[in-house]
Amino acid sequence: MGDENFDAIVIGAGPAGIACAYTLAKQGKTVLVIERGDSAGSKNVTGGRFYTYALEMVDRGLTAEAALERKVTHEQIMMLSGNRAISVDYYDPSFNRVGGTAQSFTILRAVFDPWFAGKAEEMGATVVCGIRVDDVIEKEGKIVGVIAGGDEMYANVVVAADGVNSFIAQKAGLIKDIESHAVAVGVKEIIELPAQTIEQRFNLKSEEGAARLILGCTEGIHGGGFLYTNKESISLGAVFMPEEVARHGRSLPEMFQEFKMHPAICPLLEGGKTVEYGGHLVAEEGYRGIPKKLYREGFLVCGEAAGFVVNLGYTIRGLDLAVLSGLAAAKAILEAASPAKVGPAYMQQLEAVKLLPIMRALDGFTDALDIPNLFGTYPKVAADLFQKLYAVDGSVPDHLRKQIWGVVKGNKLTLRQLFADGIRGMKAL
Ligand SMILES: Cc1cc2nc3c(=O)[nH]c(=O)nc-3n(C[C@H](O)[C@H](O)[C@H](O)COP(=O)(O)OP(=O)(O)OC[C@H]3O[C@@H](n4cnc5c(N)ncnc54)[C@H](O)[C@@H]3O)c2cc1C
Repeated sequence: MGDENFDAIVIGAGPAGIACAYTLAKQGKTVLVIERGDSAGSKNVTGGRFYTYALEMVDRGLTAEAALERKVTHEQIMMLSGNRAISVDYYDPSFNRVGGTAQSFTILRAVFDPWFAGKAEEMGATVVCGIRVDDVIEKEGKIVGVIAGGDEMYANVVVAADGVNSFIAQKAGLIKDIESHAVAVGVKEIIELPAQTIEQRFNLKSEEGAARLILGCTEGIHGGGFLYTNKESISLGAVFMPEEVARHGRSLPEMFQEFKMHPAICPLLEGGKTVEYGGHLVAEEGYRGIPKKLYREGFLVCGEAAGFVVNLGYTIRGLDLAVLSGLAAAKAILEAASPAKVGPAYMQQLEAVKLLPIMRALDGFTDALDIPNLFGTYPKVAADLFQKLYAVDGSVPDHLRKQIWGVVKGNKLTLRQLFADGIRGMKAL
């Protein structure tokens, strides 16, 4: 490989890197993807839901072939407080079908990523796993290749799709070392269960799936839980802000274990076998976390390396945005008239595929999720209120307004605090 000059070298076989490689290879470009994991997906952690419109933008019909788990027909939000739980389940069996395809599916990265990498190989890309890219090669101010496994490899364009906390974008001088407030740390288990058991426990028809985000499971720490049903397993995890975990004093595994043992969660996992356990960072700042510059001559940054993730509280989108950015990078490489024009063309493509407009539109959610009471006090207020409403013991109940006020005061909230959080939430939305 040493002497060959590729049209593009892509670092990382995640959804961003593979979408880029697939698109370039399909147009006859020579593409080398270098992945440090033993196989694509082996080093990745995702909650587990993927919006498939992005695959259709890469190539029509790709979703039908994709290694997907269950189509999400149950969108759920759960709040935990003490041993209590409130659940909202939005069920729609034909939810937002686009061209006959369900809008989102649960996925397992260890299955989905190798499938996607295989498709890029079918198009002609070379995917090499088990090798880490250690540095970029610079000549006369341009990036012209990479150093990986002790070898130098050259390309017209190097695409950094190496995920959150991109070491390669740092080497290229585009980003600084990540700051702790910019990321959350996620832990996740995959728990195997028979398909029928999953369907009974989650009230699913065959092939249907549930996506559940959970508030109140992080002991007041900024973060939340998630649960996704796969064909024959459940993905259960939680994300926490690392700075707050450090101050909190309890370890992540301890808090996660307690979450698993919650009386509303534990029965869903009963009899299951944990087959995978992982931890990973996830970018948290949305649009504001995107680095000022996403390119240099001969170099592009895409996917989560470029901060393309939005956490909305009720859903998290990183995979679809990764695919969109990989597609935008490939289109820029294909259309640019000269190497110097690839970077500006990439920025235009990020607009054209609607990635940047989506992220701008969802920018305010970051502020809404900054309300500290959201992660402990408000789930408790909601549970206390439900307890009051549903408890019947023969006594004369207080007027509803008095009951609500009693709950608010009982949780040491003031009108001023409620008002301030309300205004903050409204502004964010
Ligand atoms: C706990 C958690 C839950 C999440 N849930 C969801 C969800 O439900 N839905 C959603 O859409 N998004 C979710 N996300 C976000 C999503 O996983 C990411 O945004 C997405 O994976 C980013 O894709 P990517 O291709 O940019 O990077 P990645 O998927 O991280 O891929 C980067 C690849 O680069 C490789 N690599 C890194 N460095 C090097 C190197 N030096 N040399 C060679 N290879 C290298 C890595 O091994 C990896 O395979 C979640 C994230 C976390 C942590």
